[in-house]
Amino acid sequence: MDIATLFTYASVALFGLIFGSFLNVCIARLPHGLSIVAPRSRCPKCEHPIRWYDNIPVLSYAFLGGKCRDCRTRISPIYPFVEVLCSALWVAAFSRSLLSPEFVKTVTFGMLVLIVIFTDLLARRVPHAVTLFGIAVGFLFSFLVLVDSRPLGWLGSHAGMFIGGTTASVLGAIAGALAGGGLFYAALCFISPADEARNIWDSAT
Ligand SMILES: [Zn+2]
Repeated sequence: MDIATLFTYASVALFGLIFGSFLNVCIARLPHGLSIVAPRSRCPKCEHPIRWYDNIPVLSYAFLGGKCRDCRTRISPIYPFVEVLCSALWVAAFSRSLLSPEFVKTVTFGMLVLIVIFTDLLARRVPHAVTLFGIAVGFLFSFLVLVDSRPLGWLGSHAGMFIGGTTASVLGAIAGALAGGGLFYAALCFISPADEARNIWDSAT
């Protein structure tokens, strides 16, 4: 591997770490309906604002020995873990598709999945802010990066229709959203329609 390639991959890994740091903010705040842009991050225990040099992905955690500088409360190792996972995601996506629409799509959905995994793990919540946003972005991406919709094409050919290209991609994305999310949502509405209606209202406002 030559120097230029090494430098490129190191840059991609660094961007992955920075976005991973932002994912931590999303994971900590979204399940509680808090803003992800303001205010600045604070220690959850002593509420001291986190200094910029204590907020450097992975490195700050290592230098501080996993403890808050002010009150010495332990910081969860999940923070640097999410940063490393995000960085690995960026490097893997880049090695597969370089800088391309596919790369943007892979890291976007990979990061949404990371948020969902960790909000579910830590707060037992899968925020609508993530799932509904993902559905909207997925729909838009299906125009740019074609979805593999061979099952749909196969069904179409049996009905004597040709479904291909962008049409197949967009229809495939809608079918995927309905099958993957719609079924669960319908089940939730069936179990407790009032609760579910209130949940989605709360998360939207
Ligand atoms: Zn503290």
